[in-house]
Amino acid sequence: MSKAEVISVRPAWQQELAQAIRSPIELGERLGLPESWVNAHSRARELFPLMVTRHFVGLMEKGNIADPLLRQVMPSNEEYLEQEDFVTDPLVEQDNTTPGLLHKYHSRVLVILRGGCAINCRYCFRRHFPYSEHHFGRQQRSELLAYIQADTNINEVILSGGDPLLATDTQLSQLLTELESLPQLKRIRIHSRLPVVLPERLTPALAKRLGDSRLQAILVLHANHPREIAAELQQALVAWAQAGVTLFNQSVLLRGVNDNAQVLAALSEELFAAKVLPYYLHQLDKVKGASHFAVTDAEALTIGEQLRALLPGFLVPRLVREVAGEPSKTPLELTLK
Ligand code: SF4
Repeated sequence: MSKAEVISVRPAWQQELAQAIRSPIELGERLGLPESWVNAHSRARELFPLMVTRHFVGLMEKGNIADPLLRQVMPSNEEYLEQEDFVTDPLVEQDNTTPGLLHKYHSRVLVILRGGCAINCRYCFRRHFPYSEHHFGRQQRSELLAYIQADTNINEVILSGGDPLLATDTQLSQLLTELESLPQLKRIRIHSRLPVVLPERLTPALAKRLGDSRLQAILVLHANHPREIAAELQQALVAWAQAGVTLFNQSVLLRGVNDNAQVLAALSEELFAAKVLPYYLHQLDKVKGASHFAVTDAEALTIGEQLRALLPGFLVPRLVREVAGEPSKTPLELTLK
């Protein structure tokens, strides 16, 4: 079989992923951005590589260097700013003794299923995470199952990353079969930004597999701006909901992206039209290189108040902060006492 034939049998989402843009110059040319501006910022990709899918670029406004979607992926000189409290491991995850597995919460265990993503978000709290030390292979899968069986408090497995939807449908189905065999488990949760940047990843086959599972299946999407909910994504999400997958969204509050109640209200409306409930609005985790995205707590609380005035309660995401070592997310107001 020729290489071209091998490529042609890959699912559409993998083919699209293989064409992701990694060069600031190419990104700038596609969007008609000033060359001098692109050159001034592109060096920061040495801190964290640029990667973005063509689909996501297609949602950006041409010629706009302040576009909120572009800001999430374009390297910036501001990433060199040193701030004492912005560190490489803000949630203190990297000393974990069981590679690929984080047991932060009482009844839930989090698995780093895949180290990569389909987009590199500049504000990512795991931008310095040593994924190469957290490979999740056959051995880690057996260890995970043994770990869960040894702790009967665990009733939910969260697949995280990187992005767990980089695993193929077959790989996910195999893991699901193993998890289904553990009677203590009730739920499987997938945290993913991948559908936002590659809507084709929401395959009907995976929706059916998850919807038919004895475990309740939950997809927690990560979308930050209403323009990220493209028509293709909305259709795919509705199909996943109809297959029986419960859908939530979490966003990160980001300066210059969504630090505005009107924008967040529009995002909640778009999500709900796609059968997704807005769940969390996170204060930024203080990761080194992302301080220019920070919104002050006072501003965040004001935005939260404005959102409550604009939306019915069920469309208002909970404003939270992840505090290292805490057994759950903490409502922002409680972190200020
Ligand atoms: S998709 Fe999620 S894990 Fe990946 S870079 Fe973006 S925020 Fe980080």
